[in-house]
Amino acid sequence: MSNRIHEQYDLEDELHEECGVFGMYDFDGGDVASTIYYGLFALQHRGQESCGIAVSETDGPKGRVSSFKGMGLVNEVFTPETLEGMKGDIGVGHVRYSTAGSSTRENAQPLVLNYVKGTLALAHNGNLINALQLRHELEYTGAIFQTTIDSEVIAYHIARERLNTKSVEDAVIRAMKKIQGAYSLIVMSPRKLIGARDPHGFKPLCIGKRDNSYIITSESCALETVDAEFVRDVLPGEVVTITPDGIFSDTSMCKPKEKEARCIFEYIYFARPDSHIDGVSVYHSRILAGKYLAMDSPVEADLVVGVPESGNAAALGYSLQSGIPYGTAFVKNGYVGRTFIKPKQSNRESSVRVKLNVLAEAVKGKRVIMIDDSIVRGTTSDRIVGMLKEAGATEVHVRVSSPPFLYPCYFGTDIPSREQLIAYNRSVDDIKKVIGADSLAYLEINRLGEMVEQLPHCTGCFTGKYPMDPPTIDIRGEYQK
Ligand code: SF4
Repeated sequence: MSNRIHEQYDLEDELHEECGVFGMYDFDGGDVASTIYYGLFALQHRGQESCGIAVSETDGPKGRVSSFKGMGLVNEVFTPETLEGMKGDIGVGHVRYSTAGSSTRENAQPLVLNYVKGTLALAHNGNLINALQLRHELEYTGAIFQTTIDSEVIAYHIARERLNTKSVEDAVIRAMKKIQGAYSLIVMSPRKLIGARDPHGFKPLCIGKRDNSYIITSESCALETVDAEFVRDVLPGEVVTITPDGIFSDTSMCKPKEKEARCIFEYIYFARPDSHIDGVSVYHSRILAGKYLAMDSPVEADLVVGVPESGNAAALGYSLQSGIPYGTAFVKNGYVGRTFIKPKQSNRESSVRVKLNVLAEAVKGKRVIMIDDSIVRGTTSDRIVGMLKEAGATEVHVRVSSPPFLYPCYFGTDIPSREQLIAYNRSVDDIKKVIGADSLAYLEINRLGEMVEQLPHCTGCFTGKYPMDPPTIDIRGEYQK
């Protein structure tokens, strides 16, 4: 027990989303930086390593962009003074967690690129599978990269294509023909805001409106935060161009519906429960996952609890279906920012449970069903089951609201190598023993479709069958030199 919190930090056994994006264009000329700040704040769960905002005045000189980015949470990086100094009626913001590209300030986004046609600012969520190859090709033609992220490869392609196209949106479409993988992009040109979603639709992207302003962002929860109304989702493969002359849509890159492949983990874990993605409520899909677990893997118990936050809705679903009371067993401190001083192994505080405490009163003497969204390496599950038992739970039955992870992800989710996955080469019974649970069951893979109203989705990390050929070399973390 003495090293618990130290391990908790070093072996953080959670999945990570790569990024969140938020762009805005105010046709009345008002400043957008502070709204982007609040939008990013609502997307903080999608990335906590770095963040940034770039804004520009559409009636000002074409190349003038004011941008600010830094390492840390949105409210650690931006001050009222920084935002006050950022003048512009068009802008784009980004929160980042890195899977490809190391965690440095240079790799923070938005990327701002000056070229002959003016300035481009770009914010990207997702991972390209051919970034390395495209990067080498560009380097051979003289490109010098400032960062190690694949977003810069996209920005370069758009800038190059722009030299041969009539409009920046045409350049984005031409760049999309070269890049492969997962991307939801926002591109700010001097007079246009453009949103683009990859043809498989791995990552979410939606459009909102507030008064005479338009917004493009990763999740609908960010629209509610800034009091904007949801207009619609950007379609997989669609390019949306926002200008005061209207909103223009290009669907030439869209694929037949059955080729779409949304990342199912947006619903299971990444997205906020108050978001809707492609018409499906994230909260409702989690409730359903819990209900299916109760139907498919019932067990007698006194209490159902969720591992916060994403396990909570599934736990409620399990309770609703089974009739077993729903309760709270964990108290989570969600304010652990990047600047938090991590306890050292040698310190007395290393036994402090900084992130998660158990409410002993709630679980003592009870048979507990614990719902978690996923088990990656199993290190956290092992500890949490142990904490429940130490607090007096007589039995701990673990139910997982996703199927077992067996394969890596190449599209922006930070899943460790196969050998580190607890489900690799182990039966469910073996895993149960490793994490110290009294019983264990996962969500059946055929339930995923029912969970998201049969929206086509990706199941690569469970089945090894990816919506596109995976790269022959492991690109994850390739640039982290
Ligand atoms: S492989 Fe898994 S984590 Fe990656 S995009 Fe597909 S469903 Fe999401």
